[in-house]
Amino acid sequence: MFDNEGFDGHEAVTAFNDERSGLRGFVAIHSTALGPAMGGCRVWQYADAGAALTDVLRLSRGMSYKNAIAGLPLGGGKAVIMREPNTPMNEAMFEAFGDVVERLGGRYVTAEDVGVSEQDMVSVARRTRYVGGLPRDGVSGDPSPKTALGVFLGIRAAVKARLGRRELAGLTVAVQGLGNVGRHLCTLLHRAGAKLIVADLNPAVVDSICERFGAVAVDVDSILSQKADVFAPCALGGVLTADTIARLCVPIVAGAANNQLRSDEDGRRLFDAGILYAPDYVINAGGIIACGLGYLQPGDDALVNDRVAGIGRSLSELFERSASARVPTNLIADALARERLGLPAKSALRRAA
Ligand code: NAD
Repeated sequence: MFDNEGFDGHEAVTAFNDERSGLRGFVAIHSTALGPAMGGCRVWQYADAGAALTDVLRLSRGMSYKNAIAGLPLGGGKAVIMREPNTPMNEAMFEAFGDVVERLGGRYVTAEDVGVSEQDMVSVARRTRYVGGLPRDGVSGDPSPKTALGVFLGIRAAVKARLGRRELAGLTVAVQGLGNVGRHLCTLLHRAGAKLIVADLNPAVVDSICERFGAVAVDVDSILSQKADVFAPCALGGVLTADTIARLCVPIVAGAANNQLRSDEDGRRLFDAGILYAPDYVINAGGIIACGLGYLQPGDDALVNDRVAGIGRSLSELFERSASARVPTNLIADALARERLGLPAKSALRRAA
C-alpha cells in the first residue's frame, strides 16, 4: 500500500469486513488539513482487493484536491465497497457501512458516488451523522444538477479563454454520456443556444435528448472524433489517452467525468496540441460544493450558488496562469491544490517549471 502511486502521504486507510452482512471495503483519508475528509462512497465489483485499494487511494487524494480548490473547509477522503458478483447491496450492508463511518468519529464524512443512491445514504444515516447528500425537507440531495451547472459555467469560461467568445449560442458541444450530469448539462447548453452532438450506451436516453433538444446522435466510438467547439466527457474516467487525444477535433475539453486523464502526461499532450483542458476536479466540483455546504451549513442555498458560480472564475484564473507560465492546466491545478494542502509540489510540475 505504501508504494502505491496513489498513497501519496495518506493520513489513514481503514479496511472493513462485516461478517454478518458480507460488507467489505476500504475508507481512505488522504488529508484532514483543511477539515474533516469528505468524499463519496463507491460500490463497484473489483477484480480483487488490490484494485479496490488503488481506486480508493486515487479517489481520496482527488477529493483533497477538489475540496481545496473549491475553497471548502473540508479535507479529502473516499470509501469503496467491494460488491460481490451476483450479490446486490441491501439495507443491512449500508447500515453496516454507517457503523464503519461512525467509528471514524467524524474524520471521514460520506456521500453518494457511483452505485449508491440517495436512499442508500438514508440507510447509512440511521447509524451515523457523518453523511452528506441527504434529502432535506422533501428536496432531493442529488448533487448532479449543481455539478452540471458548474460544468456549464466552466465551459463558458473555457470558451471565453480559448475562443474569445462570451456566449455559447451557435457553438457545438459534443457530450459523451447522458446520465444524471450529462442530461442536466444538455438542458443548460440548449437553453444557452448551443448545438449538441451526443452519445450514450443507452439508446432510450439518446432518443429523448435528440427529441427534446434537436441534438445529433452519434455512436459511442465516434463521439471523440466529432468536429465541435467543445468535447464534454460526462461518462467514465480515463477517456483522455495518447490515442484518443490524437483523434480529438476540438479546441476545448471540459466535462464532468472524474479522472479524465489516463496520466499527467495526457495533460501535456492536450496542451501541446493547443487543446484547452478544464481540469476535471475543478470543473466538476459543483456536487461536492452542494453536498459539503449542505452538510456544514444546511439550508444556505445562496452560499452554494455563489460557490458554484466561483468555478467559472477559478477556471478563468487557472487558464490565464497556464497560458502565461506555459504549463499545462492540470499541473497548475495540482500545484495550487497541493499548496493549499501544505504538500510539496509534484516532480512533474518541478520538471515543467
Ligand atoms: P451516470 O452513471 O448517471 O451517467 C453516466 C452515463 O454515461 C450513463 O448514461 C452511461 O450509459 C453513459 N456511458 C457509459 N459509458 C459510456 C461510453 N463509453 N460512451 C457514452 N456513454 C457512456 O453518472 P453521472 O452521475 O452522470 O456522472 C457522470 C460522470 O461525472 C462520472 O464520471 C462521475 O464520476 C462524474 N461526476 C459526477 C458527479 C455528480 O454529481 N453526479 C459529480 C462529480 C463528478
